[in-house]
This record gives sequence, C-alpha cells and structure tokens, in this order.
Amino acid sequence: MKIFITGGAGYIGSHTCVELLNAGYEVVVYDNLSNSSPQALQRVEKITGKSVQFIQGDIRDETVTTEAIQGCDGVIHFAGLKAVGESVAKPLDYYENNVYGTLCLLRAMQSNNIKTIVFSSSATVYGDPEYLPFDEIHPLRTTNPYGQTKLVIEEILRDLYKSDTSWKIMILRYFNPVGAHESGLIGEDPQGLPNNLMPFVAQVAIGRRESLNVFGDDYDTHDGTGVRDYIHVMDLASGHLKALEALTFPQCTAINLGSGIGYSVLDLVNAFIKATDKPIPFIITPRREGDIAEFYADPTLAKNLLGWSAQRNLDQMCRDTWNFQSQNPQGYV
Ligand code: NAD
Ligand code: UDP
Repeated sequence: MKIFITGGAGYIGSHTCVELLNAGYEVVVYDNLSNSSPQALQRVEKITGKSVQFIQGDIRDETVTTEAIQGCDGVIHFAGLKAVGESVAKPLDYYENNVYGTLCLLRAMQSNNIKTIVFSSSATVYGDPEYLPFDEIHPLRTTNPYGQTKLVIEEILRDLYKSDTSWKIMILRYFNPVGAHESGLIGEDPQGLPNNLMPFVAQVAIGRRESLNVFGDDYDTHDGTGVRDYIHVMDLASGHLKALEALTFPQCTAINLGSGIGYSVLDLVNAFIKATDKPIPFIITPRREGDIAEFYADPTLAKNLLGWSAQRNLDQMCRDTWNFQSQNPQGYV
C-alpha cells in the first residue's frame, strides 16, 4: 500500500511516516515546507532504514497534486496552518490554505479515483465544554478561525460521503500532541516563539528562553492552572496506522485521539523537572485570551473502533521531548 502524506515533513507527519514505514507501507510525502525541514525526512529514513519519496508541492495547486498523487492507495492529510492566534490575525490565509487546499486535494483524489482519507482534525472543534470529557457527540462550535477551518473541512468530508458513500473517511480529533520519537532524531521544531506549552518548557530547559509564563492560576482546576489532555506523538502516529487499517469499508467517522487524562500546567512543569533534572523557572501571568480552563477526551470510541489507546505517560512525553531538544538545541538546522 502506498500512502500520500500531505504535510508529512511536519511534526506529526514525520512521526507518522516512521510508524507507517515500520509497518511496511510505502509513503509519498507531499509538503511545501512552509513549516518544516527536509532534514526531518532524512532522519525518518535513518530511523527506519527505508526510503521516503518526497515531492515538494502545495495542496492548493490542484494540477501538481493530481499528478503527484497518482498511484497512491490512500491519503493522510496533515498539511495545514495551525496557530490559533495567527488565525485570528490572518483568517483569509487560514481559510485559503486549510479549506481551499483541502478542496483541491479532494478533487485531485477524485480525479485519480482515490477515496480513502484520514484527516487531522482537532479537539478545538468542540469549543467551550458543555460537559467533560468530550465525546464525539459533544456539540461542535469552535471559537477561532483555525478551529473553524477544521470544522468546515469536517463538514465538507461529511457532505462528500453523503454524496458518494463509497468514500472511506476517518476524521481524527487530536488533543494535545507532545513528545518526540524515542531516538531524539525527530521532534517538534516550532519557528519563532512557541505557542504551545511543552515546546516552550523545552526551550526554557535548554536556555533559549529565560522563564515560562504560566497563563493564569485562578482557574477552577486542582491547582488553578489550565488542564489539557497531552498525548505522546508516537501514540498519535500509531493512531493513524490503526485508522488506516480500520478503513476496510466505506464510512465517515470522527474519532478522538487523546489519553483521557487531564494534566495541569504545573503538573507538566513538575513532570518535566523530574524527568530531566532541569530547573524550569516560571512566573504566573494573567490568563491567555480565549483559553478554556480544562478539557480532555473520552477515548472510548478509539478503543472500540480502532483498538487504540494511548500507551505512553507524561514522564515519557517529557523525557522524549527533552531527548530531542537536548540533541537539537536549535531544532533542525
Ligand atoms: P506542522 O506545521 O509541523 O506540519 C504541517 C505540515 O504541512 C508542515 O510540514 C507544512 O510545511 C505543511 N503545509 C502547510 N501548508 C501546506 C500546503 N498548503 N501544502 C503543502 N504542505 C503544507 O504541524 P503538525 O503539528 O504536524 O500538525 C499536523 C496537522 O495536525 C495540522 O493539520 C494541524 O492543524 C493538526 N493538529 C495539530 C495539533 C498540534 O497541536 N500539533 C493539534 C490538533 C491538530
Ligand atoms: N500555557 C502556558 N504558558 C505557555 C503556553 C501555554 O501557561 O507559554 C498553558 C495554556 O494556558 C494552557 C496549557 O498551557 O492551559 C496548554 O496550552 P497549549 O497552547 O499548549 O495548548 P492549547 O491551549 O491550545 O490546548
């Protein structure tokens, strides 16, 4: 089986390539490298001892995508812009890249009669929790343009399936991906100031940042700081493999990929200090606008439909993040 992986040079995509190659799949990575380095793919080859076919291209270019995708059996669609704050400032870029790009990709698939797709959605489609944990039937009502692009793409996929029930579609709603491959060769390499907690903590530990701002300690959580469901990126990668394997029959299914466990900001900081023996100086600052106090997944459906559940704990997430950060202090250079 040959799988076309859009955004395969990125953080989650590169780890998923490792999982797929190890399972015997061929992969074609299609990426415009707007937020990634070709080095990640060389390292995927080093880890697996297998070769990755790489095509530098943009999903918004339907003609090039239609040609590049020829001969593939299915698609995992990671390509997209992902920064919530930036999406508020540049909504048109986000709709164009994520929504228009996905439309072009789906048309390229249609022209080649490829009807199997696993799509990277996000827990952000649930918006403010009406109840917790989030299960897949929780109402969808996201609060920012990034989340809106994910929701619109989900709706497009559901409509596509209604129009042609021979499609095999899996929508994966990720919670908070962190960590790195245990080799320390590939990991998360954010450009500029990290938006997310774990890469920020890792950059404090390596000395690239002076201290961590903890955004608020007055939430209604066990220690007042925000609670999230962190998921090791290699667990997430194996979730994609399970999703592909489960697409043996036509369907359009949305599934949460989370651990089901919520950890606070201070839980994560303390676990990081314990795992790495590095001090993490922090200061408490006001809440970040738009943040939700807590959210975590109900991962039951993933267990029932995919036979998947998260295997790696918070200590492993911290240890593997540090392993990548300490081996690559400036990221991929
Ligand atoms: P990433 O930025 O590391 O990877 C995305 C990749 O897509 C990059 O390599 C980038 O160069 C490429 N890309 C972007 N636009 C493209 C385009 N128009 N054509 C071709 N390639 C393009 O991000 P990631 O963390 O690996 O996320 C992968 C997917 O998962 C994204 O769709 C993201 O929205 C989704 N997601 C991520 C998180 C997270 O916290 N990392 C959480 C939920 C969902
Ligand atoms: N957070 C923080 N400082 C940072 C980045 C994040 O205190 O520099 C907090 C944030 O308020 C949230 C948690 O860490 O409670 C996870 O934030 P992240 O941006 O990683 O994920 P998201 O909020 O998008 O789920």
